[in-house]
Amino acid sequence: MPDRFDTDVTTTCGYCGVGCRLEAHARDGRIVSISPALDGPANRGHTCLKGRFAHQFTRSRERLTAPLIREGGGFRPATWEEAITRIASEFGRIKAQHGPDAIAGLASSRATNEDCYAMQRLMRAAIGTNNIDNCSRVCHSPTSFAMRRAFGLSGATGGFSDIDFADAAIVIGANATEGHPVAGARIKQAALRGMKLVTVDPRRIELADYGALHLSPRPGTNAAVMLGLANVIARDGFVDGDYLAERTEGFEAVEELIALYPPDVVEGISGIPARDLEAAAHIYAEADDASLVWGLGVTEHRYGSEVVQLICNLALMTGKVGRPGSALLPLRGQNNVQGSSDMGALPDTYTQYRSVADEEVARAFEVRWGVPLSRENGLKIPEMFDAAVGGELKAMYIFGEDVAQTDPDTKHVVHALKSLEFLVCQDIFETETTKYADVILPASSFLEKTGTFTNAERRIQLVRPAIEPPGAARTDFDIITTLSRALGHDMGFETPEDAMREIADLTPHFAGVTYERIGRRGLQWPVAQDGTDSPILYGERFHLPGGRGRFAALPYKEPGDAADEEFPLILVTGRRLQHYNAGTMTRRTANLQLLDSDWLEIHPDDARRLGVADGAPVKVRSRVGHIQIEARLTERIEPGHVFTAFHFPEIRTNLLVGASADVNTSCPEYKVIAVAVQPVADRAGVPTLTAAAG
Ligand code: SF4
Repeated sequence: MPDRFDTDVTTTCGYCGVGCRLEAHARDGRIVSISPALDGPANRGHTCLKGRFAHQFTRSRERLTAPLIREGGGFRPATWEEAITRIASEFGRIKAQHGPDAIAGLASSRATNEDCYAMQRLMRAAIGTNNIDNCSRVCHSPTSFAMRRAFGLSGATGGFSDIDFADAAIVIGANATEGHPVAGARIKQAALRGMKLVTVDPRRIELADYGALHLSPRPGTNAAVMLGLANVIARDGFVDGDYLAERTEGFEAVEELIALYPPDVVEGISGIPARDLEAAAHIYAEADDASLVWGLGVTEHRYGSEVVQLICNLALMTGKVGRPGSALLPLRGQNNVQGSSDMGALPDTYTQYRSVADEEVARAFEVRWGVPLSRENGLKIPEMFDAAVGGELKAMYIFGEDVAQTDPDTKHVVHALKSLEFLVCQDIFETETTKYADVILPASSFLEKTGTFTNAERRIQLVRPAIEPPGAARTDFDIITTLSRALGHDMGFETPEDAMREIADLTPHFAGVTYERIGRRGLQWPVAQDGTDSPILYGERFHLPGGRGRFAALPYKEPGDAADEEFPLILVTGRRLQHYNAGTMTRRTANLQLLDSDWLEIHPDDARRLGVADGAPVKVRSRVGHIQIEARLTERIEPGHVFTAFHFPEIRTNLLVGASADVNTSCPEYKVIAVAVQPVADRAGVPTLTAAAG
């Protein structure tokens, strides 16, 4: 008789924000294969090699299968009771001695909405602090900030199907065919069908080969490019005057500002030829419907949030928002970046981005949870690390995030983790971060849990377990609610679905969300009480007081780092198709056989000048650290720039990233790092590069 896991389960991919629906096939408690769900609204029967094949990590021998408690120089296995009691006791002690704000928590954009909701409730209600954040801080927090300012809501204005209706699209700072492959394939197919595609990226990404035009700006100059596009749109008479008058406010200041950025000026700043900038502006403005797509190449900059506001300006000027084919689509990084923030796992907002200082909202949560709640903003992730080093923050509870590998300024992060009196990590594997933990809790992967993810289209989709967590590992939801009870705050949730009922009760945009209504197609928030969802936003009004979209007059400013004599190259970091983020899951699958290391892309001209040979090791040095990595020569990158990913902990790319961050959201500037590259010499001082010597 087969048990309940000898079956086929429809679930949602746990890697990127496209949100492909998957059929997971399990036998004898193991995933044997995964196939695409034919009716998946985002993937329509397709997946990439991560969603389809990278599942063997679930039964890796390295999975955490029992709680671990630090003892002596290492860890020893412990029972759940012992681990939970120890955490409750330490959190209780620290709270009594230093107050609740001496403790901070990180929710995970890999986890479900219900996990993240429970985590922020634990920090706010059981601990008593707003020190809760999630890893969207280091990727798309600038998008959230900017879209709320320009339009009112933090989410894409449409969905991936808008690509099918668009006559043109500009893809800015997003290597979609590697980072979001199924969305990338949809863009590629649309381009093959005749959609005019413009790509804007310092590297000649794959999509550029399918586009009408590729613009390669100097890293850190996106703002100038957006202002230049706006200049040409205004100069050549493409501003939609009726739309401006009826639906927007603030264009006058923008009109004055963009006059300062004619194409020749922008060419001087960005390196993009003036005629190419003009052509791109015409492609966008002349199209009946055109969409704007962006990724971390826009957000992970010192002025990333301002660039997103400038992108929104383009749509407002031309009235290209709020109808099929004219969408603004931020490609969210991890599977639930959208949802973890929607759920209030942020230091300043409850669900639906409502301020913790909003008396009416805070009161509603107080009544429901039965505890007083703080009206003060908590700490953002970088502020948490600063506070730990400064001695004000004493304990952290980090789940599903390897901050010692993925966050910038690794030395500072490690210093912060070492400075804590007590660190709890909840994960599926030991990571760079768990090395500093006092207690490690074994958790569950997306193939082992129930709940929902919200994809980059604001689509809430069901997650179903195909297998059970290994050994004594438990679901994140179970662990968080159990710990909350041990801390004296019983959430009263039996299942994740109970949490979703509470979310719906307390969150107007989730009012009509039920698991039954989500079904196989998902629901795109806002979801009205009767279950009607919202595939397209802003058809009639923006979600701002007065209902008008807001322009932002923001000039170009130089990035936080710049090349100089000592550090003459600019490093841009990003992703590869085969691996995901810190590689914690994909490195434990056969994808490792496809790609087993990071490497540094460098233009042949730079390589020749520096004596760097293809395939040889180089030392890369920034103002804050250095790494050793293999160099590979490619003309897909412009001279003066180098590129690498950050999937392999042995390389530790983020040692190179400094403290520069987005001015509004503290999102790190991963995309502009001044570096020096030199061949690695042998003991006699001779470069280990025979080719370079010639
Ligand atoms: Fe998963 Fe993203 Fe690949 Fe789809 S495109 S299968 S969501 S990693």
